[in-house]
Amino acid sequence: MQNRAVAASYAPMMKLYDTLSRSLREVTPRDGRTYRFYCCGPTVYGPAHIGNFRTFVLQDVFRRTIELGGLPTRHVRNLTDVDDKTIRDSQAAGQTLTEFTHYWTDRFHRDCARLNLLTPHEEPGAVDHIPQQIALIETLMEKGHAYRSDDGSVYYKVSSFDSYGRLSHLDRRELRYGTAVADDEYEKDSVADFALWKARKPEDGDNWWDSPWGPGRPGWHLECSAMCREYLGDTFDLHSGGVDLIFPHHENEIAQSEAATGCHMADHWFHLTHLLVDGGKMSKSLGNFYTLDQIEAAGFTGNELRYVLISAHYRQPLNFVARDADGKETFPALAGARHALERIAKFDAALRARIPMEQGLSSDATGYDQLRGLPAEERGGFAAAFDGLLNDLNTPEALGQVFSALKEVKPAELDAEAARRERRGLHFVLEALGLRVPELKEESVEVPEAIRDLAERRWAARTAKDWASADVLRAELAAAGWEMKDGREGYELSPKG
Ligand code: AMP
Ligand code: ZN
Repeated sequence: MQNRAVAASYAPMMKLYDTLSRSLREVTPRDGRTYRFYCCGPTVYGPAHIGNFRTFVLQDVFRRTIELGGLPTRHVRNLTDVDDKTIRDSQAAGQTLTEFTHYWTDRFHRDCARLNLLTPHEEPGAVDHIPQQIALIETLMEKGHAYRSDDGSVYYKVSSFDSYGRLSHLDRRELRYGTAVADDEYEKDSVADFALWKARKPEDGDNWWDSPWGPGRPGWHLECSAMCREYLGDTFDLHSGGVDLIFPHHENEIAQSEAATGCHMADHWFHLTHLLVDGGKMSKSLGNFYTLDQIEAAGFTGNELRYVLISAHYRQPLNFVARDADGKETFPALAGARHALERIAKFDAALRARIPMEQGLSSDATGYDQLRGLPAEERGGFAAAFDGLLNDLNTPEALGQVFSALKEVKPAELDAEAARRERRGLHFVLEALGLRVPELKEESVEVPEAIRDLAERRWAARTAKDWASADVLRAELAAAGWEMKDGREGYELSPKG
């Protein structure tokens, strides 16, 4: 009952662009209780790249915004673990398909954790759902939407589905139906019957299953239709993926699901625009293909990458700047993110300093679960930042509002109660964005004992107003590569930059 009340009051608050109707629409759960959505997941045949992660991170911000707004979700994201690429590369690696895809799934999960992505409630793989996929094909055959070809493959008959092309806005009058295509990926100008079941070929090796049409394996588009139905039912709240999936993948999913069930598949279609690198498409041959491992090897963190990935609106291309003006790979965008996150960390520390420990500051009060459903009036100066997310998931607006609040809210002027409220507001929006407050530099830098000793002696000389000794000791510290900054109550040591 309580969830229902929360959902009802929450429901009109978030608006999101819907690809199908080409309009901003409210994010509302069909059942009034839980927002149920599906995201097409990774193909597990290699490391996911930072473009894939732009999509997954923004889908994660979407989920966090809904949940923090007070509405529970059910998030399903599949793993594509059988297709041409996984089969080809597992064979090249001399591994079974399962060994190979499990390895890359683990790598994907490790990257997801470093990027602070929430774990989906279900993460089904295609290989574990062959019977569901076969059942779906059987229904499509019975209803006249599919046919078996001579080689034992089964194709979807695109001309049998009246609204084919609705999502990608293909003009039906201009559709020229080609012959059947076996490949999973193809361009709009070759709209064609697509494979639901691919007859076994010698290059498939051991990767085949029995079916009423003979041995083979499912086509790529089919797995998502089968898994959506299995985990979310015939109609659910939202379906999502990168813009490259609008056609043919999502168009084909709609055709399969809706022809089989007679129900519309999803209320909302959420598509994310691609990441570009240094102004161009990311590709291995251009040497601008980045993984999280590479970003970390260059000295940056998942948190910093996440900041960069959310810095542009999801409907705009994001240009990841990897090289500086001289063409050197210095990752200026990540360096900027580091600086921005440090400003947030300093502000957080200043708020913390206003809250006496015995009054129960503890970081627990600002954890994700504690903050779910925090009322708008308790978000302090950060309410506008969260509102940015409610307005078509406008992450750059949310970040801009965070920095406006950082200027307007003056921790030194706040009493403990006000500081606690602002801190909760800040963490509320940081949790929505999935950003972690980094440790401040001086806390993470190890100061050698000899340097600490010099600094202590200098501080004592300074306190005793022995300026000559203090200057000599400062010079000694400088010669050793350390800078000492004096405050009223104490000093800070940092390596000279
Ligand atoms: P894949 O592993 O290729 O099936 O892709 C996983 C997800 O990443 C899908 O939602 C794709 O649409 C998305 N994607 C692929 N390339 C990019 C890119 N350069 N920028 C953003 N998203 C992408
Ligand atoms: Zn899919």
